Amino acid sequence: MKKGIYLFLTVLIVACRKEKGNIISLLKSRRTIHLILILLIINIGELTAQKTKEVKKVVNENFEKESTPIQKSSTNLKNIKLEYDIPSNKAIEVAIIGAGVSGLYSAYRLTKDENTALPADQIQIFEMSNRIGGRLESVQLPGMTITGELGGMRYLTSQKIVTSLIQNVFKEELKHVDFPMGNDANLFGYFRKQRIKMNAWEIAQEKGEKLETHYYLNEKDLGYSPNQLFNKLIYDVLIADPWFEMHFGQYIEKISKYDYSFKITREQWNIIKPKLTYHFPGPYSGMKVNDIGFWNLIKDQVSQEGFNFLADAGGYYSNTINWNAAEALPYMIGDFSSSTVTYRTIEGGYDLIAYALADAYLKEKGANIWMGNRLVTFDKQTSGKYKYKLKFFHEKSKTIWTLETNKIILAIPRRSLELLDQNNFFFDKDTQEVFQKNIASVIKEPSLKILMGFEEPWWIEDFKTYDGHSITDLPIRQCYYFGVDQNDSHSLLLGSYNDMRSVTFWQGLTKSQTKGESNLKLFTPRATKRIKGDEFKSRLLENQATQVMVDEAMNQIRELHGRPEIPYPYVTWYKDWSQDPFGGGYHAWKSNYDIAKTMAYMRNPNPKESIYICGEAYSDQQGWVEGAFCVAERMLEDYFNLKRPNWIPSNYYLGW
Ligand SMILES: Cc1cc2nc3c(=O)[nH]c(=O)nc-3n(C[C@H](O)[C@H](O)[C@H](O)COP(=O)(O)OP(=O)(O)OC[C@H]3O[C@@H](n4cnc5c(N)ncnc54)[C@H](O)[C@@H]3O)c2cc1C
Repeated sequence: MKKGIYLFLTVLIVACRKEKGNIISLLKSRRTIHLILILLIINIGELTAQKTKEVKKVVNENFEKESTPIQKSSTNLKNIKLEYDIPSNKAIEVAIIGAGVSGLYSAYRLTKDENTALPADQIQIFEMSNRIGGRLESVQLPGMTITGELGGMRYLTSQKIVTSLIQNVFKEELKHVDFPMGNDANLFGYFRKQRIKMNAWEIAQEKGEKLETHYYLNEKDLGYSPNQLFNKLIYDVLIADPWFEMHFGQYIEKISKYDYSFKITREQWNIIKPKLTYHFPGPYSGMKVNDIGFWNLIKDQVSQEGFNFLADAGGYYSNTINWNAAEALPYMIGDFSSSTVTYRTIEGGYDLIAYALADAYLKEKGANIWMGNRLVTFDKQTSGKYKYKLKFFHEKSKTIWTLETNKIILAIPRRSLELLDQNNFFFDKDTQEVFQKNIASVIKEPSLKILMGFEEPWWIEDFKTYDGHSITDLPIRQCYYFGVDQNDSHSLLLGSYNDMRSVTFWQGLTKSQTKGESNLKLFTPRATKRIKGDEFKSRLLENQATQVMVDEAMNQIRELHGRPEIPYPYVTWYKDWSQDPFGGGYHAWKSNYDIAKTMAYMRNPNPKESIYICGEAYSDQQGWVEGAFCVAERMLEDYFNLKRPNWIPSNYYLGW
């Protein structure tokens, strides 16, 4: 602005001289009018630029500020120092892309391993968002100290890396607690308008009866609960294969009419999965189970109606999509079909595992996590000390900058890989067909959560339900009762945890990601006896579900519980993991791929290049943090020569 005024005065003096001091003729002259117009344009331009700068400043300040978690966890792990600028050192040995658990784990291991001579300033992490943790995101809604989980929320004690990190390596920083799965007697099932308690199958079985549901199941499948029917189906497929029976038959057992036991280790499963043959007459007879889709197999075993029953009553549509049937068998037993698994989590939120890793890495001199820096592409260099040149987009300054490095770790899932420049030498569609085919070997599984804060725990008052989850075929699919605040009655419900096709139901009710395209209003959080209206911060306000979404979800929650007058929540938090850069909450292998080969291939797609991929997407424990850790550990041992640390059992199986 000042610049404009000075320019104006100078021009006026010059013009005055030309018109020999005659102000009237000066003002009338065309030249002067032109000059004034030009100056006006300069000034407007300057004003706009200044305004843009101010807006940018606010946006950038928010980008950093809002990365500060609104979570008040019992530890101060979340106060780690993250960098938001562009690094001054533009040449390093290892660039890790992604500060999800696999990227953080890689940095932690590389800087702590006794074999690695590299100092931490040579191993840097770059994260495109303003938050670390990736698909782990624990949040606290205002007015309560209970933690809500938008992403991953629990681990199994059989998962040795995550268990050892939490209960051993970071035992001073992290406190593990049980993740209660509730009592089936107090949990609801609501399928095809039939409302039951989730123990209804067992109660009927104890009486020698078969629970009648609204599904037209085959005579032989009547009376089984969804978990039991999954187990029956898996048992039948396994035992029908003479090769399996001869080599592994002793590890599975039919205990009683409805109950089965499977004692097959992950290592044994990896021998079984590629060899298992389908021995039932019909279209799939003689095929390798690895080449059959799980939906195909379920339909063949229990009919399409049986499939509908398992898909609905199992809680997750993602479990029964047409993914690789051989992969699905152990997955279904390990996670959902066994009564002996122990679920645990971390007090204060499961994402604290990410913060503990980040904190330990950042304690090393020169360690940094560069936030708001998105990898765009990379190229090979033909001369100089460094093999690759990486291009990043820096969110804060909206500029592109370059970094040289010798090794790249892409700790990102399928969709994030696809968002990188697909025309560079590494991804090129015309020359890298095998790589492109293998990138597509996993299915991206959409998943969406709606957290809701209530003033009263109506589920305890009405139904004596303290924890666990209810399941329905309504699009909310699952409700998790997260708990009641110690200080008062404010309570947290995961009002909807849904996946696959049910995600599209909610997407129709969300505010479009592109501003200005939707008239849908966001839910307005309201004050309660404990919390004032002005305590709702901008990050929370932006993440509210829409009003129509809350109305719809509340209708379904009321229908599921059979109670028409459940009050409205005072606050919500909604997250759709199918949005970029994730493309889904978790992944599943497709059938017809040689998973053993593809998994190994993806860790280093081109043996001539020092470019590595790790994370949950291409693991044999998809949908689990442990899958991400196992792939990262395997990659680090194989390609970075790291020794197995003493806190991971030396015989622990990391997968293919
Ligand atoms: C709803 C839900 C429930 C789940 N439940 C459980 C559970 O109970 N237990 C469990 O163990 N697991 C669970 N999981 C799975 C678990 O969260 C994931 O397996 C794990 O967090 C994946 O970690 P990752 O490192 O592989 O990838 P991510 O967490 O996806 O991390 C990738 C990171 O890379 C960043 N990034 C992407 N592209 C770029 C780029 N170009 N430049 C820079 N940065 C980039 C992303 O922003 C992200 O931070 C769940 C997941 C979801 C979504």
